[in-house]
Amino acid sequence: MRKVLKCKYCNKKIMSYDYPVLQVRYGNPIRRCKKCNAEYLDPRYKEMGIEGIKDSDFSKASFTVMTVIGVLILARGIYLFGTEPLGAKELKLVMPLFWTGVGIFMIVGGIFELIRINNGSKQTKYLRMYEESCERLKDEIYVEKLYKLGYDLPAGFLNRPGGGTADDDADIFAGH
Ligand SMILES: [Zn+2]
Repeated sequence: MRKVLKCKYCNKKIMSYDYPVLQVRYGNPIRRCKKCNAEYLDPRYKEMGIEGIKDSDFSKASFTVMTVIGVLILARGIYLFGTEPLGAKELKLVMPLFWTGVGIFMIVGGIFELIRINNGSKQTKYLRMYEESCERLKDEIYVEKLYKLGYDLPAGFLNRPGGGTADDDADIFAGH
């Protein structure tokens, strides 16, 4: 489902986005409206120190599946190059090119993620992002701002800003 985010104060359309958010990005979600400068939350961004790290971000199985599906889609795209399209002749190349592109994108993306998980660079990057997030969350004013803007904070979080400390880091990759 597509949702539209509008500024609560001036009603300017800020963005439309998929809901629920499929590809969560991590970082400070607070942005300012370009028109009236009021602050809002970018719904696509989450604080890693609050949400933790999802197992699926490090799942070799799911990135392998993604790569395999990419191969199948690529094969389909290549196959379509040799077929006659149902619609107008001018559109002949649109679908084959589209599926070939999607297939290549998924293969490259899947393999890239598998390499990063295997050599540990993804873990290193996530750990750094996690620490930066915890650093931001140590600031009570920042946490209160998130709360006021409507961030779904876990119970008790407001009384315990900071979420995790460096000591907790060992736990966040639990199960891998
Ligand atoms: Zn505004």
